[in-house]
Parts: sequence; C-alpha cells; structure tokens
Amino acid sequence: MSILELRGVAKTYGDGAAEVHALDGVDLTVTAGQMVAVMGPSGSGKSTLLTIAGSLEEPDRGEVLVAGMALRELSRNARARLRRRTVGYVFQDFNLLPGLTAAENVALPLELDGVPGRTARGAALRALEEVGLSARAPHFPDQLSGGERQRVAIARAVAGERRLLLADEPSGALDSGNAEAVMRLIHSACKRGVAAVVVTHDAQLASWADRVVFLRDGKIVDQTMPMAGPESLLSQGQTP
Ligand code: ADP
Repeated sequence: MSILELRGVAKTYGDGAAEVHALDGVDLTVTAGQMVAVMGPSGSGKSTLLTIAGSLEEPDRGEVLVAGMALRELSRNARARLRRRTVGYVFQDFNLLPGLTAAENVALPLELDGVPGRTARGAALRALEEVGLSARAPHFPDQLSGGERQRVAIARAVAGERRLLLADEPSGALDSGNAEAVMRLIHSACKRGVAAVVVTHDAQLASWADRVVFLRDGKIVDQTMPMAGPESLLSQGQTP
C-alpha cells in the first residue's frame, strides 16, 4: 500500500527574474515498509519535497496523497490532524523541548492530539524501547548525548500510529557511528511498516535505504534500486 504519493508536484518560489522552480514535476511513490533516501546538491529541492510531503506547504501543481488521502481534498483541520497523527518529522537539530524528559518529549505530540496521558506515556516508553533508550526515559535532553537525542527524536516521530516518517538530514550533526545508528533505527522502523523519506548527503548512509532518489533543479533525475542480494541469486538458481 502506498503511504506517500507525489504526482506531478511542482512548486515555484518568487517571480520574474527571481523565479525558482524548487520542484518541477516530481512523481514519487513510497509504500508501507519502504525507506527512500533523497540525495542531490544544495538547492535541488530536497527540503521542499519533504515540507510538501508533510503538508507543511502546498504545491502549485500536482497531487499529494498521504495514506491514500489526497491532501488537497482535506479540510484544514483534517490536514492538521493528519500531520499530528500520521506523519512524524525528524530534523538535523533534534528539536527536543529542554524542560521535558525524553519520555515526555515523545509523549507530548500524542497528548496534544488528545491521547489520554497514561496511554501516551505507554506508547512513548514503547517507542523509546524500540530505539534502545528505555533507561534514558526520565532524563532531560541536556543529560543525553547528541546521538541519544536524535534517537529520542526518532522515537517521537514513530510513536503511536504514525505511518510516514520524514527526515531532513537526521544524521547531519552526528559523528559517523551515531549517524549510522540513526539510519539503522529508521530502517528498522520501516521493517515494522513505517514508510520513510530521508534526505542525506552521505552515499554510505543512503545505502541503508531500499531506494535512492536523486534530485537536480527540482526534478528527479535518477532512481537506483537496491542491488539484488546473494539470496535472490540463490532463489533464481532454484527456479526450473
Ligand atoms: P535543498 O533542500 O535541496 O537544499 P530547497 O528545497 O531548500 O533545496 O530549495 C530549493 C530551491 O527553492 C532553492 O533555490 C531555494 O533557494 C528555493 N527556496 C526554498 N524555499 C524557499 C522560500 N521559502 N522562498 C524562496 N525560495 C525558496
């Protein structure tokens, strides 16, 4: 099932001589369980793609569907609900609230969405467990390392019933070991059924994805599928 679908999406900023085609007819489908990495030079439209996919901005042309719902056809309220319930965001700078513990940071969006406190806290603790941070639940962000803070942000982005994770250079501020761990965690969230779009500059980190999409001047110029693993060669060999 496709969780994110962009069809002919275009977005232009400015006008006249200052006109910039940030996205220029982008088609992209991400199914449940799939991790897609987006690469491309600075200014190629990567962040615009994420903000439009997350319904934080509207395209000038084209259609965006999240979990089968066409964003254009939803009311403002329904779009806001979709942003709170279905989509999780991870940014380079973690964006945790300093006065709340790790568990409270993860639970807050659920509570703001009307989930009762005890249920939200249970979901937060489960999400923290999935990123290996159960022991850090009562700690405040300034008691955590950069890598741990980003793991809390990933837990926050997948807690509850979220189905689409949008990450803008989630490992940009981390050393290579922690960067790798962040990609591995996003990858394992996908194995549990989440769809993810992850912007990264690092080809080695992008190799965690099922598919890598290259953007240039607002257009998708290339999509690489993963190499067939050795097990697929074996199964081919077994077919008559
Ligand atoms: P990337 O994330 O690949 O660096 P962006 O999506 O941020 O690219 O930007 C794509 C293009 O759109 C760039 O030329 C950028 O300057 C322009 N752009 C992005 N957001 C805005 C905005 N709010 N106003 C004007 N121009 C913008």
